Amino acid sequence: MYDIAIIGSGLSSNFFLSTLKKKGKKIALISTENTKFESKSAYKNLNKYINESLPPRFKKKEHISSVINFYKGNKIIPNNDSSIFGYLNNGGVSNYWGGSCEFLSEKSINFLNKKEKKQLINSFKSIYSKYKFTGEMFGEETANKSNSLNHLKLDPLFKEIIKNQSNKKIRFFQNCIASNFKNNKILKPKDINFNSGGIKKFNYFVNSIEKIDNIYNLNCINNKKKISIKAKKIVIAAGTISTTRLICQVLNHTTSVTLDHNPMMFGLFFLKKKIKNENFSSSKLAAKIFSKNKNNYCTVNFRSSNSVIRKKIFSIFPQIKNSLSKSLYKILENRMIFLNLYLDSKYGNLSFTLNNKNEINLKVNKKKMHIIKKELNNNFRLLKNYMVKNNLIYPFSFKLFPKMGSDNHYTGTIPINSKNKKLSLNSNCELKGLKNIFVIDGSAIPKNKSKFPTALIISNAYRIGSNFK
Ligand SMILES: Cc1cc2nc3c(=O)[nH]c(=O)nc-3n(C[C@H](O)[C@H](O)[C@H](O)COP(=O)(O)OP(=O)(O)OC[C@H]3O[C@@H](n4cnc5c(N)ncnc54)[C@H](O)[C@@H]3O)c2cc1C
Repeated sequence: MYDIAIIGSGLSSNFFLSTLKKKGKKIALISTENTKFESKSAYKNLNKYINESLPPRFKKKEHISSVINFYKGNKIIPNNDSSIFGYLNNGGVSNYWGGSCEFLSEKSINFLNKKEKKQLINSFKSIYSKYKFTGEMFGEETANKSNSLNHLKLDPLFKEIIKNQSNKKIRFFQNCIASNFKNNKILKPKDINFNSGGIKKFNYFVNSIEKIDNIYNLNCINNKKKISIKAKKIVIAAGTISTTRLICQVLNHTTSVTLDHNPMMFGLFFLKKKIKNENFSSSKLAAKIFSKNKNNYCTVNFRSSNSVIRKKIFSIFPQIKNSLSKSLYKILENRMIFLNLYLDSKYGNLSFTLNNKNEINLKVNKKKMHIIKKELNNNFRLLKNYMVKNNLIYPFSFKLFPKMGSDNHYTGTIPINSKNKKLSLNSNCELKGLKNIFVIDGSAIPKNKSKFPTALIISNAYRIGSNFK
């Protein structure tokens, strides 16, 4: 019997473990490192769907089975109007994130009391300095100038834009990134320091949770092997979709659950001045577009071209994969600036239901698509017109709407202090309806203005770890 069983070994789990006082506690860590699943015919045709939802840096051949396993393990029925990426090996999806952070100022955090807010903010400040992040900590004020501009090799054009090109409607700033300014690498779960001595690790997929008296039984599988792990307390950090499935199943919650996320679009502008191409890294230039008022904005991340983007473009559009297009691309490459534009999660359009076979049915509301596209188009147009007017770009551009969920920013299914009694947590992230189950990943984060949720997710996991009894 364990005192605590933790599920998952991504960023949220590892930040929780980095502050957890482990002395005197018997701890189990259950995570799928290279778990195999028996093949199921229902997932035979998954390859095409999955290939379309892979992030640009994905090394397809080596790891595709891990994405298929995410679908098999969670029994997700693919939905062609959505694109959901999940990954089960060695620390999960956290190995593929882009490192952009958008933390909230104290006045924008409305789900914690004053003391808890301070703790959350201080958690982010500690993480920011320990892991050598750069950029504006709150998107509203410059956090630490010596850490940011001085340490980053910003393209002179980006520097010039940040310094001189903002107005009331569009504010350019140095993006806050979880990319170590010393080695330029994006923070991954393996980089998080904590003492793992005494923690018993299990390479299993948790299939279900049962409550028997005051004890929890975790039913785990790896290929044909099945084990059951008993614990007094459970901490779930399996990523929003996996975690929500486990919670819905233990609570027998079969009504629809809304998945908060940030609908997005890709775009391409052509700069009047040349910029340097670089290796794939976090986006260093960002902008907020205030299309309606100062409380309602969308966030844009900019990147110059790089080999990862180039490869992805030629794989999405095989019709242009010829020597002429390739030469043209090369000529234009250092005038290209790519952008990802993200909306507030109130425009999110994904939900899911656990059916009676324990499968996840994903849903996209087709009626809402019109409003989402309109909002994305409005913001894109505002940005483009502004940049054309200021002589930064030429007046032609490209844009692409990926499927719903392509942002991969999934949160808010079991939020802290929500009114829904069943799927809600108290401020220590304990499930309101069942004692001793804690949820510390994106599921716990309530609707908020941030367009990049991971900074909030990891700071919250860090906060919960340090308070955990
Ligand atoms: C391409 C891409 C780019 C992104 N870019 C950004 C960005 O720039 N900024 C931002 O804020 N966010 C970004 N995100 C989102 C970010 O990656 C996630 O918010 C973050 O990784 C969540 O971490 P996590 O630890 O909660 O979950 P995960 O990383 O998913 O970790 C879950 C862990 O649980 C394990 N697991 C899952 N299910 C089970 C189970 N049933 N039993 C046992 N183990 C299980 C997994 O193997 C893994 O170890 C991006 C995501 C993607 C895919």
